[in-house]
Amino acid sequence: MAPSPSYPRSRELLSGSLENIRGVGPRLREKLAKTGVRTIEDALYTLPHRYEDRREIRKIAQLREGFTEVFSGEILAVNESVTSRARKRIFEVIVGDGSGQVALKWFHYRKEWMKKRFTVGTSAVFTGEVKRFGALREVHHPDSEFLDGRSLEEAMAADPMNFGRILPVYPLTEGLTQKTARKIWKNILERFAPVAVSPLPREIIERNQLLPLDHALARVHWPPNDIPAEELEKGVEQARRSLVFDEFFFLELGLALKRRGIVLEKGIPFQVSHLYTKPLAAMLPYRLTAAQRRVLGEIKKDMMAPHPMNRLVQGDVGSGKTIVALMAALVAIENETQVAVIAPTEILAEQHYLQFQRWLEALGLKTALLCGGQKPAERLEILERIRAGEVQLIVGTHAVLQESVAFKRLGLGVIDEQHRFGVVQRGILRKKGENPDILVMTATPIPRTLSLTLYGDLALSVIDELPPGRTPIRTRVIGEEKRAEAYSFIRKELEQGRQAYIVYPLVDDSEKSDLLAATADAERLQQEIFSDFRLGLLHGRMKTAEKEAVMAAFKEGGIQMLISTTVIEVGIDVPNATVMMIEHAERFGLAQLHQLRGRVGRGADASTCILMRSRRGSEDGRKRLQVMAETTDGFRIAEADLEIRGPGEFLGTRQAGLPDFRVANLLRDGSVLELARKEAFRLANDPAFFNSEKYAETRQALLDRWGNRLELASIG
Ligand code: ADP
Ligand code: MG
Repeated sequence: MAPSPSYPRSRELLSGSLENIRGVGPRLREKLAKTGVRTIEDALYTLPHRYEDRREIRKIAQLREGFTEVFSGEILAVNESVTSRARKRIFEVIVGDGSGQVALKWFHYRKEWMKKRFTVGTSAVFTGEVKRFGALREVHHPDSEFLDGRSLEEAMAADPMNFGRILPVYPLTEGLTQKTARKIWKNILERFAPVAVSPLPREIIERNQLLPLDHALARVHWPPNDIPAEELEKGVEQARRSLVFDEFFFLELGLALKRRGIVLEKGIPFQVSHLYTKPLAAMLPYRLTAAQRRVLGEIKKDMMAPHPMNRLVQGDVGSGKTIVALMAALVAIENETQVAVIAPTEILAEQHYLQFQRWLEALGLKTALLCGGQKPAERLEILERIRAGEVQLIVGTHAVLQESVAFKRLGLGVIDEQHRFGVVQRGILRKKGENPDILVMTATPIPRTLSLTLYGDLALSVIDELPPGRTPIRTRVIGEEKRAEAYSFIRKELEQGRQAYIVYPLVDDSEKSDLLAATADAERLQQEIFSDFRLGLLHGRMKTAEKEAVMAAFKEGGIQMLISTTVIEVGIDVPNATVMMIEHAERFGLAQLHQLRGRVGRGADASTCILMRSRRGSEDGRKRLQVMAETTDGFRIAEADLEIRGPGEFLGTRQAGLPDFRVANLLRDGSVLELARKEAFRLANDPAFFNSEKYAETRQALLDRWGNRLELASIG
């Protein structure tokens, strides 16, 4: 065997085009290019999406329904008919092998050719998916390999690429039969799989029982005959696992270095003087939970270090992240630096502002609010005070990230509800100071596999405990017929002095949609159902001042019921609100429903969430909603949501930075991700990685895969 080429040479060979591949003409090349397959490497990584097990010729009596099977037999009868309803022609052949009979059917065919080829008494090997309609089993459009006087063994041996083994079935074969696709891919594999060189360090390959890249590729396309059929289907076969590991490893290595790069930078070594934190703790009406104290400890340790902090605090809705952030902010302020807190909506920014301002004023400190909805003159004045360092804490929306915002000395940036922001925003915030510490907070309980890929460069703290005295929220999924009942339930709560939310997916009634609009409905509810209570309306198109007024009134209890769009989704905190009714609930993602629901159940009183189904909701939607009724565990809900909707949808289009995987599947390959991550972080912490010749190829591969997204010039 020829020795493997060097890694760079391997890259060069694999990045070649498909121009010189037998069977791939200009038209096919163009077609493949449209699906993203341009290079040899692209083709190698276009893996079969399933396999056909043609190792065995089955007796017709033993054909399994739902499986693609191979069987041989003699043609017993041939018949062409026309369906009575659709007037479609059907060509039907009955085949028997002594053990039983099966019907073969064609719905599109060339009559002359079929009549000539399929004659009674002829024998052939057939392959196709076995189905049952009525008494006889059927195979539609089977592959047929005629024996033409040969024995079965002879015929199979004559076509080793299509019989006696497990065959790949390729996904992008529009205008290409599987047979041709197999031929082309086989050709590419034979020439190029052997030159695919894995830049994974040898010890990592060994420790994790991976196959070298060349073997892995060869096997994943053409699995060996001794592989158990079950493993093949599950895609957990060692070859695929090796490719997945490879893919995850370089992602995680990049993230590890990114994190390390930040860690190695010079930051502000804060002192913890307790000048403000102690008085604040004394003012709080409660004691921090053990989880809050632990996380605050982790944050303080980061802040005291001479390198910038880059930490994610994850905690379910209501776990009390805000106060932890405020404590961290006070540490930064004790060190005469400023703090910026960024929230995804004006309402949330406003709420934080009001809360923070109250505490900070008591401590003799100044707070400012910065939102898009402010008047230019007002804004200019605020900007000036920030620049002059007269304000210690700035709370705002993404308006804080605008270029015009300059700080005297930014020490800490806090991003609340990180899932609403991309990675980019973190970078912008960082550049507003000299390597300030960054703290991001999220309540979206991102499933671990996803958070490892998205936030892999952040250190993680988890507030895994709710403040004491909360009663779990009761959730009910109901239909229109129970609407009156739901209203009377809400009424009872209001009569006891509690407050309620009704949430709608849209703001205005559009002609095309049958959605109840918050605006129209607020009126109806106020006039007809809850005329003895004060209702307020809140939606994203209202002016900042209007929103502020409504929110303030609701907080103070002047408004008993808030009718709202999802602007209240994140962060709003009104502990006296004990009921939430969500209209058209199936139009929301589960994670979003969880966020919404988290607006109730924030005080000691028992709370209820009513999910109203649409009249014409789907079965699927109904099933999803049931998950909400069954659990209040944000992580379980997130997993379910991810499973139902897939990663792209789950995160929404807003979420930048989720890489496309060629082989890996985040839902299925979580455990491989964890292994790859562990290895990647171990390597990134090994000084040898940066200078030893042994890792030169791994370093090069990392640069190849990440390009300049990493700013990793230092490892080149
Ligand atoms: P989230 O983590 O969802 O942002 P918040 O920070 O808004 O949660 O806190 C939810 C509620 O819990 C607030 O009313 C807050 O005052 C209260 N809270 C926070 N910490 C505690 C605690 N240790 N004990 C009791 N209540 C607390
Ligand atoms: Mg919050």
